[in-house]
Amino acid sequence: MLTFQLPPGKRQTGKRHFGAEDAMAVGARWLPFACTFWVVGSTVVPALSDDRPVLSLPLVCEPHKTCFIQNYVDVDPGPGLRDYACGSATYDQHSGVDFRILSAKRAESSVPVVAAADGTVKALRDGVEDKFFKLGKGADLTGRECGNGVILDHGSGWETQYCHMRRGSIRVTKGQAIKRGDRLGDVGFSGMASFAHVHLTVRHDGKIVDPFLPESSDGACVKDPRSRSLWEPSAAAAFPYRNGELLAIGFAGAPPSADALEVDDRDILQLSPKSDIFVLYGRFINVLKGDRIHFEASGPQGEVFNETTAPLTRNMATYVPFMGKRRGEAKWAAGHYDGRVQLLRDEAVIATALAAYDLK
Ligand SMILES: [Zn+2]
Repeated sequence: MLTFQLPPGKRQTGKRHFGAEDAMAVGARWLPFACTFWVVGSTVVPALSDDRPVLSLPLVCEPHKTCFIQNYVDVDPGPGLRDYACGSATYDQHSGVDFRILSAKRAESSVPVVAAADGTVKALRDGVEDKFFKLGKGADLTGRECGNGVILDHGSGWETQYCHMRRGSIRVTKGQAIKRGDRLGDVGFSGMASFAHVHLTVRHDGKIVDPFLPESSDGACVKDPRSRSLWEPSAAAAFPYRNGELLAIGFAGAPPSADALEVDDRDILQLSPKSDIFVLYGRFINVLKGDRIHFEASGPQGEVFNETTAPLTRNMATYVPFMGKRRGEAKWAAGHYDGRVQLLRDEAVIATALAAYDLK
């Protein structure tokens, strides 16, 4: 049997600056300073007050099926990165929480961005093109890093900001009173976004607050957070802390590309009896150095492969590994195939996904 995989660091790598929308500048037009600068060196500050808002999720989706947290707030005030649980599911200076969807294509079916709490529309912007941002390329987005966005004022110095919404989707007006759950617009990828998502920033008196750990200060993180977050219970339950997640798996007739999956996760070369390669792939976020991936596939003629990869040599924000088997002279047998992909860390299985495919 011939099995193979691409070595980490070739075509399946993710970029650490994936999602570098941040500077998160609201733009000089919105506030008298550029967030690009004030984010630098700012810390997550103590935000204890009785008037703090209780937040619900900023988008309508099925957690861990159609939406996932790609990046948390970077609580490290310096040049490093650290999320609120002392993990690495963030990037340097990231000022909010990125709730991602599976691909840009999914944004076309209008994924609602909704108010996380009651408030008033303080500012908004629309008209910015939905286009994946690439470092060092494309239009100058200075002052428009947030893309199409909305800022809600919740009173007592609290506000929430929603970024990267789909152009033309914003359906609120400045000064409008908003109730929790009201639709503000749709998920998109405008501004400095390299994947389809909504970025939520929470501020109190102008300072960034991590909604998962609002009491944190001076870059402190907590390995097993027990303090009260700003999330209402169902939102908190929907997104327990994760550093390493499996978005999806699938069979294919060729190795999928991570970049192409961000554009349209359904656009893969289908497996056929004549495919040169039988592929089972996984789509991961926030994998860590040392993680291993296990692939199993079986079909009408028994096992196709059952292999575990070598440990990863570095952390990756996105990762699309696959296991493949080359076809011999014969076609792949028609019938039912089952696949299983697992993320292994420190000898434990931290994520599993199953797939089935009927080859005709
Ligand atoms: Zn973000």
